[in-house]
Amino acid sequence: MISVAQALEHLFALADPLPEETVSLRHAAGRVLARDVFATRTQPPFDASSMDGYAVKGVEADLHAQFKVVGEAAAGHGWTGTVGPGQAVRIFTGAPVPEGADHVLIQENVTRTGDLITLTDDSDTKSNIRPAGVDFFKGTDIAAPRLLRPGDVALLASMNVADVPVAKRPVVALISTGDELVMPGEDPGPDQIIASNTFGLAAMLDDIGAEAHILPIARDNAASLRTVLGLANGADLVVTIGGASVGDHDLVADVAAEMGMEQSFYKVAMRPGKPLMAGRLNGTPMVGLPGNPVSAMVCGTVFVVPMLRAMMGLPAVPAPQVRRTLAAPLGANGPRAHYMRAIIDGDGVRDAGLQDSSLLSVLACANALIVRPPHDPVRHAGDSVDVIELHNS
Ligand code: AMP
Ligand code: MG
Repeated sequence: MISVAQALEHLFALADPLPEETVSLRHAAGRVLARDVFATRTQPPFDASSMDGYAVKGVEADLHAQFKVVGEAAAGHGWTGTVGPGQAVRIFTGAPVPEGADHVLIQENVTRTGDLITLTDDSDTKSNIRPAGVDFFKGTDIAAPRLLRPGDVALLASMNVADVPVAKRPVVALISTGDELVMPGEDPGPDQIIASNTFGLAAMLDDIGAEAHILPIARDNAASLRTVLGLANGADLVVTIGGASVGDHDLVADVAAEMGMEQSFYKVAMRPGKPLMAGRLNGTPMVGLPGNPVSAMVCGTVFVVPMLRAMMGLPAVPAPQVRRTLAAPLGANGPRAHYMRAIIDGDGVRDAGLQDSSLLSVLACANALIVRPPHDPVRHAGDSVDVIELHNS
């Protein structure tokens, strides 16, 4: 059995980089920038007023000074003249500061009578001008790779980058295996349950910008599994669920091997998730997840998501961990790394209750996984532990 870190190294080695495609800015959020992009303009393109007020020469802005208002500059409508001594231009936020002026008096600090204004409060010493280029200059880059968040999209828009080069969304074929499974919405027989894993995983993968395809359920016989694996043709990653332990009906490894899979590893020293398997099937990376629902979701978080991020060009790193203070003690851990369903609240982090790998109700309440290394000793309330945040609450 290999460690989680070793398994991840194998998975990163299987993570072929995806090609690039261009999307419109409107569809860039959540995608990974594939190439550096550059601002096609300077922002602001001119010295701009940051307040509503009057543009004047700063050296003249003494208490009780008076100015004659000679024009108006509004956003989108600059004033083309030059502000002379003793003159002011009515100006609004976002308007270009006219020639000759280098200071904006805020309107609250002046009184106006006809065309004449008087500075009645000189406590504001700021110029209230945003210099041209204070945000960015033409040619400023956004460096790839980068997961594009809403703020990045706003920046790209401001840079007038309307078409964005991003990594192609990885197509992931998700295959449930088992005679006992039916699709949600169907009528299960007395010995059957609902296939939940593919749906939870699809949601997880959608969330990171992958394109998950849920394939028909493969039954516990070689022909059915072969057929469904065949349907995965064209996917960038094939993920099977279940059929991965050593039971009589656990066929995934055998059938995949017979179809030509080169196995990278089988079994990882962790719980839940020990019977994890990965390799390459006819050139396509394939991961075999354990069938227990929580195992599948934990392995999705710990292995599949980092692997897909690497395929999209992001750094090949494990799921981010943070340190949190334990709100309740934990018993000693055994020889395998343990990913405990846990709840973070104002008091710190505590385990979420029963840790059986079939309990989706516990997983759904959890907002974190406490990561226990192999042989981690008893931990007390107040100790720091490593945690993967699940961001589902
Ligand atoms: P297996 O690895 O096929 O032996 O499955 C282990 C356990 O997970 C069994 O109780 C299965 O019924 C259950 N299981 C397998 N696949 C799924 C699935 N897609 N959705 C829900 N439960 C599953
Ligand atoms: Mg099974």
